[in-house]
Parts: sequence; structure tokens; C-alpha cells
Amino acid sequence: MIAVADARARILAQVERATAPETRPLRSALGRVLACDVRAPFDVPPADNSAVDGYAVRAADLRPGGSARFRVVGDLPAGGVFAGAIARGEALRIMTGAPMPPGADTVVPKELAVEAPGEVELRAVDAGANVRARGEDVRAGEVVLRAGAVLRPQDLGLLASLGFPETRVHRPPRVALLSTGDEVVEPGRPRRPGQIYDANRFSLAAMTEAAGAEALDLGIVPDVEDLLRARLADAAGQADVVLTSGGVSVGDYDLVKRVLAQLGGIEFWQVAMQPGRPLAVGRIGAAQFFGLPGNPVASMLCFHLFVRPTLWKLGGRSRLDPECLTARAVEPMRKKAGRREFKRGVLRFTERGFEVSTTGPQGSGILSSMVAANCLIILEEPRGDVEPGEPVLVEPL
Ligand code: AMP
Ligand code: MG
Repeated sequence: MIAVADARARILAQVERATAPETRPLRSALGRVLACDVRAPFDVPPADNSAVDGYAVRAADLRPGGSARFRVVGDLPAGGVFAGAIARGEALRIMTGAPMPPGADTVVPKELAVEAPGEVELRAVDAGANVRARGEDVRAGEVVLRAGAVLRPQDLGLLASLGFPETRVHRPPRVALLSTGDEVVEPGRPRRPGQIYDANRFSLAAMTEAAGAEALDLGIVPDVEDLLRARLADAAGQADVVLTSGGVSVGDYDLVKRVLAQLGGIEFWQVAMQPGRPLAVGRIGAAQFFGLPGNPVASMLCFHLFVRPTLWKLGGRSRLDPECLTARAVEPMRKKAGRREFKRGVLRFTERGFEVSTTGPQGSGILSSMVAANCLIILEEPRGDVEPGEPVLVEPL
């Protein structure tokens, strides 16, 4: 038996380097992982500018508690630059975003102005009010985004504001997916007695894509030794990671396990977890291999715990840990000490804080428990049965 944390650490240690960087236009970089630090090439904003529509003046000319009369020397739209400078008693009509004219240090919003031809009467505001300072958002040379960050909409906006039309990101890892088992059939085909439709390839392909990787669907392999060997070799030749589901437990017909054992470099682990347990890991050629359990919940959970961080690391991501929180259990939960258990849970925020219950029956073949869940309830190894009211660790899904 191997603990979940040890299994994860050993698997991640196998990932030596991330996929190569490539250049992408910003419009197709959402969710991609930045391959290098990005520094601001100039101050943002590049000049002091007005935060409102109003009048740029010298604060010293305003009359505190009252209003003062100014001569209007010009009209500056956003995008324009005022050629002169503001002298004593002068005001420049200015639009939001337009650069501050030399001499002026304050903008009086137009709501505080009474306009007359060639003149304006302005109420007082604090010195420096309504001016956005050069560099107040970002300073030239500052690192604005770090390598390993997953690009979000606001990051793309920032890159664009710095004048970059494209960015350097890692190539998404390629994942070849195979389902194994004579009983497994493709959805849409007729299903004979004793057969089940393939669920795993679809949930695992979707999890692969949700992890920012590319899924190569290589279909179903029947339990035929030569076929399986050939399909695995083919998969390893075209992907960074090969994923199979099924055939890694101890049943007589689990020839997946036998074929993998012949390949060498693959270990069979019993992970101290529920659901999950049997897991094959190692390499086939240059590809990293995972043989996930066949039960649909177990295969999804093993993907979540072991494959996803591998894909993240391979894809250059710097943050590999999930976000967890603590919630109060509202029902008793059976738990066997010595292994880590993952219950499918429903997390709610109430006036008493976060509360969590299970989704009901927790069998590792009960895929509807994943459908009903919005979180995993993580019960650590030393823990025994959980009583209502006890705090438990929760990972929102
Ligand atoms: P195995 O690990 O091959 O012994 O499979 C364990 C259980 O998972 C069996 O009930 C299989 O029928 C089921 N199973 C295996 N592969 C899949 C799949 N791709 N989709 C849904 N269930 C599967
Ligand atoms: Mg099988």
C-alpha cells in the first residue's frame, strides 16, 4: 500500500520538464500557461491623465469652500495632447483619459462647473483630485505576469494594454485515451447482454481538456493481448501521456496488467484510498503512462488526484495544489482508518457557514454520485467515522 500523497509526489517527480513554448495570438491564449515572465515595457498609464470629464487647473487657484472664475484656454478630447501650459487663472476643458496639460495638477469635475462663454466658475476640490498618475497601474520594468500562470481574461487585457499582440505559452500536453475491456462498447452501438457503454473515455477526455491538455481519443481495445500491446505502443508514439482505464485490478481477465508488466518500467500500486486503489504508473517509450481503474468514479478520482497535476506540471503550470476549505458535516460518515477516503459531497453555504453532506450511496461504480456532487469530502488517513457537526476537509469541484 502506498499513501495518496506519496503516490502523487512520486508521479510528479517523473515529470522532468514542461512542454515547449509556442507563440499564440492573445485571442487564442485563454487558459494557456505562460512560458516566461512578462515585464511592462512602459508605465501604465503612460502619462498623468484625467479620471473625469472636467476642467484641469492649478489647485492653488481654487478657492477652498467657495468657487473661483477661470479663463477657458482650450478643449482637450481623449487622444489629444494640449500644446501649451496652464497658467494662473486658466482652465483646460478635458475629457476622461486625456493627458494632463503641463502646469495643471487637479481636475474639477464638470458637475462642479458653471460654464459661461470663454469662462467657467469652478467649485473647489482637493489638490490633485481626479488625476490618475503615470505608472499608478504598472511601472515600466515591473513583472506583471509570471511564467506558470494560467491566462485569464484580465491577464489577456493587461497584455494587450502593454501593446503585446501575442504571447509565449506552453504547448498543451497531448493525452492518448484508451478504454479496455471486452464488455465495453461505444455509445450509439447496440449493446448486448453483459455489455456496458464506455463512460470513462468520455469523462476522462473531458477532464483532460478541462486540465488544459489535448485529448486524443484512441477508442476501445478488447481484451486481446496482441491488439492491446500494439495499441499501447501506437498511443505512446503520438502522445506525452497515455491513459487507459480498466484492467489493472487482480481479476483473471485483467490481461492489461499482464501486457503492461511485459513492457517493463510500469509499477502496479495499491494506493491507500477509497475509491481508487489499483493504479499502474510508469513509462511506455517516451510517454508517461497511467493505468486507471475501470470503475467510473475511481477512474475520475485517480485522474483528479494523479493525472491532473501531472498534466498541469507538464503544461508548465506553477500552481499544482487544489483549493480546499473546511465545512461542518451534517450527517454521520463511515470511514476506515488507514486510508484516505473521498466521499462525493454537496457543499452549501448557510447562516452557520459551510455545511456538507454526502450524495448518498458511495460505490465506486456509482457515477451518478459524481453527477450529484459539487465537492469531494476528503477524509484523511488517521481519521475514523465522522459524527455530525465535525469539521471535514472539502474540495469544491
Ligand atoms: P476492471 O478494472 O477492468 O476490472 O473494471 C472494473 C469495473 O469497471 C467493471 O465493472 C467494468 O465493467 C467497469 N468499466 C471498465 N471500463 C469501463 C468504462 N470504460 N466505462 C465504464 N465502466 C467501465
Ligand atoms: Mg476490464
